[in-house]
Amino acid sequence: MSEHLYLGQQLLDQFGSQCIKTQELERVPFEHDWRGRTAAKALAVAIPQTLEEVQALVRWCHHHDVNIVPQGGNTGLCGGSVPSPRIAHPQLILSLSRLKHIRQLDLDNDTLTVEAGCTLQEIQELAEQHDRLFPLSLASEGSCQIGGNLSTNAGGVQVLRYGSMRALTLGLEVVLPDGKLWNGLRGLRKDNTGYDLKQVFIGAEGTLGIITAATLKLFPQPLKQAVTWIALESPQNALQLFHALRAKLGEQISSFELIGRKPLALALKHIPGARDPLPEVHPWQVLVQIDGLDHSECADLLNALLTEQDLIRDALVAQNESQGKAMWALREHLSEAQRIEGPSLKHDISLPMSAIPTFIEQAQIKLEEAHPGISIVCFGHLGDGNLHYNIFPAEAVTTAQELEQREGERISRIILDLVAQLGGSFSAEHGVGQFKVAELARYRDPVELGLMRQLKAAWDPKGIMNPGKIFDLP
Ligand SMILES: Cc1cc2nc3c(=O)[nH]c(=O)nc-3n(C[C@H](O)[C@H](O)[C@H](O)COP(=O)(O)OP(=O)(O)OC[C@H]3O[C@@H](n4cnc5c(N)ncnc54)[C@H](O)[C@@H]3O)c2cc1C
Repeated sequence: MSEHLYLGQQLLDQFGSQCIKTQELERVPFEHDWRGRTAAKALAVAIPQTLEEVQALVRWCHHHDVNIVPQGGNTGLCGGSVPSPRIAHPQLILSLSRLKHIRQLDLDNDTLTVEAGCTLQEIQELAEQHDRLFPLSLASEGSCQIGGNLSTNAGGVQVLRYGSMRALTLGLEVVLPDGKLWNGLRGLRKDNTGYDLKQVFIGAEGTLGIITAATLKLFPQPLKQAVTWIALESPQNALQLFHALRAKLGEQISSFELIGRKPLALALKHIPGARDPLPEVHPWQVLVQIDGLDHSECADLLNALLTEQDLIRDALVAQNESQGKAMWALREHLSEAQRIEGPSLKHDISLPMSAIPTFIEQAQIKLEEAHPGISIVCFGHLGDGNLHYNIFPAEAVTTAQELEQREGERISRIILDLVAQLGGSFSAEHGVGQFKVAELARYRDPVELGLMRQLKAAWDPKGIMNPGKIFDLP
């Protein structure tokens, strides 16, 4: 009997077929990443229903030296949630999707304690039922899970006002690589008692332990909200507009999304029912959400700005909720439209906000010089200094792998070297996973990388937690 078969049978005997899936048909959906860029065979998929079952599974893996790949909604974009094809040693996918209890809703403390497998949308809806807001918002919110959001420190479209998962979390519960439980589910906004361990697990992409529950912050629902679509000449104008609005509104701006012409054109081409909010074609647009203003107050503000500064080419303020939702739907379908168009090289980059116009200008010059005929799809969360900067090749290709092999390295190097030169990061909100391991080694300071490795070695000495992710294999 092969090692895989033997271990799979042992798992089945111990945990039962409700929890353990060893058949190919059952495993396959868990073994492929969302973009279809990587897949590898897992020993089995474990879908535990209780915290105790998670602990028992981890203890079993620790004892048998079996690697663990934690998986939430499998919407991650760096291949972190699926087994690595470079590892021969058995890898067990541990899906958190059945760990879905709501442990505590404390409205007087504005906190919600939930298990890791709740989807983001379920948490948003629960908060809303109690007249509260859980502000994390991503296009994948129907599928991604709180445990995955925490492990990738997810950002999304309201980071500007509320911060990413790091800022939205007060406590964590984690099963450690040897099966021990750390209960750090504290609902405290102030707690200066030594190291803040939860921050080490947030963004660790499942390489240090399994997050099983979290205490999240809730906020009041905004009483009024305006959504507006504004056309501009350039990213520089967008930055100026951002500061002009901030000067008037302070923290009330909850989203400030920059959208280039190309991604908008792809959404209009591929998404059924999509319509440009404005009648004319413009090179750049921003989608702005403002809390605490209604649509007429927002229109007055934009009119006042129009007379003060010559920044805006045209603008539409949503007159009602459904118009606002249509503007957001356009923004949220930008990634899907690119997927339909065909393979592209994706970059999720972070820059000081002040460097964004320079980056966009210089990157275009460098890329078009080196690779004539490419097209650049640029959009993102300008208010957070985060751009999604994707490249379609001059000649159509059929698979992402083909694109990467042909031009990927050279194109990405131009982009990421410029990002580094301007003080930015090669990954803003998507993490490192297995696709950006080489970038971490290339762009991170060796001292910082060394500290990260020491931490990993100390907390997971057997190296069983999600190997091949973040760091290269030993
Ligand atoms: C259409 C689309 C839009 C997106 N938009 C955004 C966006 O705006 N902002 C953004 O930040 N991201 C975005 N993403 C990326 C993705 O949705 C997020 O990274 C999300 O937080 C991942 O959650 P998940 O449950 O799917 O995690 P998975 O993909 O299952 O896992 C992601 C990583 O976390 C680890 N992990 C998962 N659960 C646990 C756990 N309980 N304990 C320990 N480790 C765990 C996995 O091993 C893996 O390394 C988008 C993705 C898609 C497909």
